[in-house]
Amino acid sequence: MPVEILTIPCLNDNYAYAVRDGETGEVAVIDVPDAAPILRALSFKGWGLNQILLTHHHPDHIGGVDVLHQAIDAPIVGARADMHRLPQLALGVAEGDAFQLGNQTVEVHDVSGHTKGHVAYHFAEGNALFTGDSLMIMGCGRLFEGDAEMMWASLTKLMELPAETRIYSGHEYTASNAKFAMSIEPENRALIERTRQISEARARGDDTMGATLELEMATNPFLRAGRAEVKAAIGMKDASDAEVFAEIRKRKDNF
Ligand code: ZN
Ligand code: FE
Repeated sequence: MPVEILTIPCLNDNYAYAVRDGETGEVAVIDVPDAAPILRALSFKGWGLNQILLTHHHPDHIGGVDVLHQAIDAPIVGARADMHRLPQLALGVAEGDAFQLGNQTVEVHDVSGHTKGHVAYHFAEGNALFTGDSLMIMGCGRLFEGDAEMMWASLTKLMELPAETRIYSGHEYTASNAKFAMSIEPENRALIERTRQISEARARGDDTMGATLELEMATNPFLRAGRAEVKAAIGMKDASDAEVFAEIRKRKDNF
C-alpha cells in the first residue's frame, strides 16, 4: 500500500487527514481545524508528523495549527499567495508545484473560488486528492472570494485527474449535498442509487469521504454543469458551462 489515510473528525463537521507514506513512514496532516483530535489520532496510530499541509486560510481549517505546531515542530506548507494570512510557512506552493512526503510526490493544484489562494494536494501514486472546501463530496464550496467562473475553472482542472482518484474534502456535508443534487437531476439513476447509499452510510455513522472522481462526475451536479442533460434539466440548454455552474451554485446557496 503506497499511502495509508486516516480521516479525523474535528469540530462539528470538519475533517482533518493524516497521510502516511507506507515506505518511509513519513506522515503529513492536511488541515488543522483543532489540534487535540489530530494529536490523539497520531498517538493512537503511533505515527509521527513530518508535514502540516494547509488548503486555505479559513479558521475551521487552520485554527489548531499553532497548538499542533507547538506539540510537534513539523514544517507547514500552504499557498504562497496566502502567506500573509496563513501561519508561518516553511514552504509556499502554487499551481504545478510538487514536493515529497517520503517517497510520495505531492502535486499542488490551485483550486481558487471558495477563497483565492486555495490549493488541493494530489498524492498521485496513492490516488488521493485532498480538496479542502473546493470540490466537496457531491458538492463544492461556497464562493466567498472568487466567482463562478473561477470555481468552474478549478473544478474543470480537477476533472482531468485520473477517474480512480479518491476525493477527501474538508467537511461532511454529503447528505445535504445529495438532497440538493436530487433537486437538480431527479431522474439520474446513479444519483438516486448513491443518495440511498449515503443515507445508509450516515445512519451507520460512517463518513462519506474517499469517493472516486468517476462517481463524483456521475453524481455531483457541480461537476456536471457541462452536460447536456443537466442544462436541459434546469432550462439552460444554450448556456455556457460556466453559466450553468453559476446557476447551480446560486440555487444551492438558496436551497
Ligand atoms: Zn472554507
Ligand atoms: Fe471549511
